[in-house]
Amino acid sequence: MNSQNIALHTFNTFSVPCWANNFILIDNQNRLFELTDNVITALKNENFYLLGEGSNTLFLEESVGLIVKSALKGLEYRETEDAYFVKAASGENWHQLILSCLNRNIFGLENLALIPGSVGAAPVQNIGAYGVELSDFCYEVEWFDFSAQCFKLLSNKDCVFGYRDSIFKHELKNKGMITSVTFKLPKRWKSRLSYQGLSELPSNISALQIMTKVIELREAKLPNPEILPNAGSFFKNPLVNLTQYQALQKEYEQLPAYPQQNTEYVKLAAGWLIEKAGLKGIKLNKAAVHKDQALVLVNEGGNGADIVALAKLVTESVYLKFNIRLEPEVRFIANEGECDAVNYIHQF
Ligand code: NAP
Repeated sequence: MNSQNIALHTFNTFSVPCWANNFILIDNQNRLFELTDNVITALKNENFYLLGEGSNTLFLEESVGLIVKSALKGLEYRETEDAYFVKAASGENWHQLILSCLNRNIFGLENLALIPGSVGAAPVQNIGAYGVELSDFCYEVEWFDFSAQCFKLLSNKDCVFGYRDSIFKHELKNKGMITSVTFKLPKRWKSRLSYQGLSELPSNISALQIMTKVIELREAKLPNPEILPNAGSFFKNPLVNLTQYQALQKEYEQLPAYPQQNTEYVKLAAGWLIEKAGLKGIKLNKAAVHKDQALVLVNEGGNGADIVALAKLVTESVYLKFNIRLEPEVRFIANEGECDAVNYIHQF
């Protein structure tokens, strides 16, 4: 389906007003071969944005040139002696995928319950929560190459997964579209209970009970975008080197910190830094830092510029206090397509 002038406020969880001049819905794989020359040119010039469920997206201006959205559906299950393989189309909802797996006694993804968004968006930023990342179970990603007009399979290694990062944000950015993701979930399941909130649970707990607990934790801490529009964590947790960490730790004894295995880096909690900079609950124009979870910015009836102004206040205040530059996890989309969020805030 190819449409013009589509309102996007219901296609982004920040609910900011924005129009798509052109909107292409890929509701079956053949559509990918039917893209017109104009569209292919726009795609080659990167003047477009691949939209999932808009849960990690901030539209910055009144309009955006071209949006391509996957509505591909379907879940396929197969099994070997020691593992289940679940192939999910990119337009499937992430949480529904987890529910379907648990219904079939396929475990492993339960710590990632209730993360908003689509299956296709999940590998792009290697979604993670409560000690599990998508990369732990991603077997392969099927990807449509716009230039070559063919499908390719990328193994877990090919995806170059990192902390909220993958090849789809770099080398393959805007070069194609993820059409499905296949997960390999070992039949011999092991619970992952290292994070606070789960670590108090008994070790013989079931995957279903873990999922229930994760849902409870998320619902208690995170505002529901349908009631208070937001895009979850707005900033990434910053990594600092040991020297910087030790200097900060002297000044702030309570500083939560997580050493990164086999590196000299330590991960800090962005939400803690924002709170200590005195910004929890602060309002600017029609945007606010959430009153319970400082890592979440909420839209109180404003537009993209209101959120960016608040993000600028947050990054500058945290920098002044801790000498740390926070980087948005949320992706910034201008009229011509995605732009560098750090630069955009800096120049705003
Ligand atoms: P929290 O317990 O307040 O902790 C703050 C941060 O510290 C988390 O972001 C987490 O980093 C890190 N952390 C906590 N315990 C850790 C451990 N045992 N080992 C390593 N790192 C640890 O966190 P929260 O805000 O309630 O979030 C809980 C989980 O849900 C986190 O994994 C978080 O990423 C995830 N979450 C994600 C989103 C999103 O929009 N992406 C929104 C809400 C929550 P990590 O983020 O690296 O795990």
